[in-house]
Amino acid sequence: PDAMPGSKTLFERARKVMPGGNTRTTVFVDPFPIYAARGEGCRVWDVDGNAYYDCINNFTSMIHGYAHPDVTAAVVEQLPFGTAFGAPTLSEVELAELLVERLPSVDQVRFTNSGTEGVMMAIKAARAFTGRPKIVKIEGAYHGSYDFAEVSLDSSPANWGDLPRSTPYAKGTPRGVLDDVIAVPFNDTEALRAVFAAEGDSIAAVLIDPMPNRAGLIPARRDYLHAMAEIAHAAGALVIFDEVISFRLGWSGAQGLWGIEPDLTALGKIIGGGFPVGAVGGRADVMAVFDPTAGKPALPHGGTFTANPVTMRAGLASMRALTKDSFAHLDCLGASLREGVTASFEKHGLAGQCVGLGSLFKIHFTSHPVTDYRSIYPGQAERKKFDVFHKGLLGRGVLSASYGLFALSTPMTEEDAGAILQAIDETLGDVAAQS
Ligand code: PMP
Repeated sequence: PDAMPGSKTLFERARKVMPGGNTRTTVFVDPFPIYAARGEGCRVWDVDGNAYYDCINNFTSMIHGYAHPDVTAAVVEQLPFGTAFGAPTLSEVELAELLVERLPSVDQVRFTNSGTEGVMMAIKAARAFTGRPKIVKIEGAYHGSYDFAEVSLDSSPANWGDLPRSTPYAKGTPRGVLDDVIAVPFNDTEALRAVFAAEGDSIAAVLIDPMPNRAGLIPARRDYLHAMAEIAHAAGALVIFDEVISFRLGWSGAQGLWGIEPDLTALGKIIGGGFPVGAVGGRADVMAVFDPTAGKPALPHGGTFTANPVTMRAGLASMRALTKDSFAHLDCLGASLREGVTASFEKHGLAGQCVGLGSLFKIHFTSHPVTDYRSIYPGQAERKKFDVFHKGLLGRGVLSASYGLFALSTPMTEEDAGAILQAIDETLGDVAAQS
């Protein structure tokens, strides 16, 4: 904190005009967050001039880091022509075409302004298509801040029964919301089968992030996902993939890696090139619920800034710059970091592990197998380790998300990865010394 007087002062100002000085819970850090001044490539500078390797990348969205020349040029080119119209533009057609080309399961796309809205519109589309009220979601999996997607997100162990319960995340969640969301354990085919046997007639969709960050960043098993599709379809329900984060795992997202075609996919983050964005895409017959050409659609959907040409142009430039080689590079960096971090845990004799795929990894201060949300729930001792780890890394010039999530970016070189690894290694040394 001594090296960050500018951030401290800004936080004090912020506290007067924003609750807790904050407008985004996820970026709060005790005692105050660093305030970013600028970013370039894989680095960020705070208002006090401290430089950091950015391994948060705006919570995984900045896959090319900051100020990618193609993205900057595309935005600068668009600005003098206008930034948002009460009319569609060519740019949204082009970005939709790119997404349809990359995702075989997606025939058509609808844009939104956030991943939250992408998930929300996917859930509403599934309800409109099936005429059913309920969704099934994985215990502890995060899908943004739509009421129905927030259920069973933060149930404390005291609330855990043998099976997940539909617990509210926010105070004031209406009872009806809880009634219409069924939480299931991750990677458990039999539990899913049991839920469908009991309530299949009223289920519109199963919502799943194929590698749920808050539930441990452990991949869903391929056989589980295939069984999920079979069970859901047999009951007349849909499968929704939340690929808001996992689309950064490969050319065709996680669904490409897993070889599965969900009925609907929610997108966000990387597809906006650093601007607010989200989308829902999927099978043409399901997406038809949005179609206004024959009168009021089954599911009307608007949004003043939806598909604005600045976001669309930035997204296009960013996605075009994300080539198959980019993914190979990110996979390579990710693999070497996961390997290095695993070796560092061993070297320091520290209980822990490093999980993830491609450009994403996460550390857990547990030695038992990480299988689901319950298996990673941090006790008092783990919370303290995360705190020492997070602050130690910050002091060494590396930004990571709290609870140990790291997202890499294409401008990172092997040398950068080496420097990040060294900072992690030294910081794990601190954690070992203090535990
Ligand atoms: N789904 C997942 C898996 C996410 O991680 C997030 C955001 N971190 C969202 C949905 C919501 O996206 P947004 O923050 O753009 O609303």
